[in-house]
Amino acid sequence: MERIIPFNRPYLTGKEAHYVYDAVYTGKLSGNGKYTHLCQDFFKEKYGFGKCLLTTSCTDALEMAALLLNIKSGDEVILPSYTFVSTANAFVLRGAKLVFVDSREDHPGMDENKIEELITEKTRAIVPVHYAGVACDMDKIMALAEKYGLYVVEDAAQAIDSYYTGKDGVKKALGSIGHLAAFSFHETKNIISGEGGMLAINDPDFMDRAEILWEKGTNRSAFFRGEVDKYGWVDVGSSFLPSEIIAAFLWAQLENLEEIQKKRIEHWNQYFEGLNDWIREQGMNLPYIPSYATNNAHMFYIVCESGAQRDFIIKKLKKRKIHSVFHYLSLHKSPFYKGIHGSRELIHSDTYSDHLIRLPLFFQLTKDDIEYILKVLKSK
Ligand SMILES: *Cc1c(COP(=O)(O)O)cnc(C)c1O
Repeated sequence: MERIIPFNRPYLTGKEAHYVYDAVYTGKLSGNGKYTHLCQDFFKEKYGFGKCLLTTSCTDALEMAALLLNIKSGDEVILPSYTFVSTANAFVLRGAKLVFVDSREDHPGMDENKIEELITEKTRAIVPVHYAGVACDMDKIMALAEKYGLYVVEDAAQAIDSYYTGKDGVKKALGSIGHLAAFSFHETKNIISGEGGMLAINDPDFMDRAEILWEKGTNRSAFFRGEVDKYGWVDVGSSFLPSEIIAAFLWAQLENLEEIQKKRIEHWNQYFEGLNDWIREQGMNLPYIPSYATNNAHMFYIVCESGAQRDFIIKKLKKRKIHSVFHYLSLHKSPFYKGIHGSRELIHSDTYSDHLIRLPLFFQLTKDDIEYILKVLKSK
């Protein structure tokens, strides 16, 4: 029987329904309860984030970040063009002008050496995206932020359990370095809750206000801790917090984080080793992991020599029921933003738009499945 290999399949650890049942039948359904605190404390302790607030998505966490920074009309925000729309939308919603940076030649992440030339009087923030969970060179980015008085919001949607080691030799979790950082637990990520996300707040100046924006602009969280005797409307805000049902699901995933990561990294290494020689013969490239970065095996991608070669491979795999996919289309060329961006070229971003292909990578794959994918991939 021919096997069918999807691009992604959400992995359940087995405890999700149990914790969801517990959340439902203890009668605490709305947010900021037991499971929310378990998850937030876990992240804070394991990765050294300043303060953690679960959100209903990474998109929401990015929107919270833009609100916290008081981004307003006329402000400029520097971000890669090769990213998901949410990185951009969060700031456009506040009226910011997006200033796109090209990708690196050796990696789809933003080229840290091309940021400084884009900084103006109006620049407020830099938003590095840790593509495939591989760190941007955060020393360079934080140094620019310091020099020009800018904020750094890490889009760490794909970067759970990944690290950066800078010049000081200290290994720091991605999401713990910028002033703020956003994570995703969408079902396509390593750790999932269907939809879900988190804002990590590392700059103490933002901690109190983050909690208020999170709770519809009220000081309700402080009220529940007994810090104030009544709660009211004190700022702008929205409903960014997820229900306990989502947090309960996420908790089951977090209890198995090490096992999930170990398995994904095994799969990733099997792809990498299995493709090394063949890729070179084909003129393609494998993922590059700089020495300062770790690999959290969020994604396995290859960079083809041409768009035609990529389309050929996607078709070849599809014929054998293996589902592979391309990724972002440069935002500076999107129908929505090309008129505002103008004609400044971002050639590496366009190359990744046209040449990059992602292979199936999820927990339940077997060694045998990956052998099979490699065989089909290398077939004529
Ligand atoms: C997945 C992703 C997002 C959005 O995450 P949601 O939780 O679906 O809102 C944002 N940025 C990047 C880089 C992503 O990969």
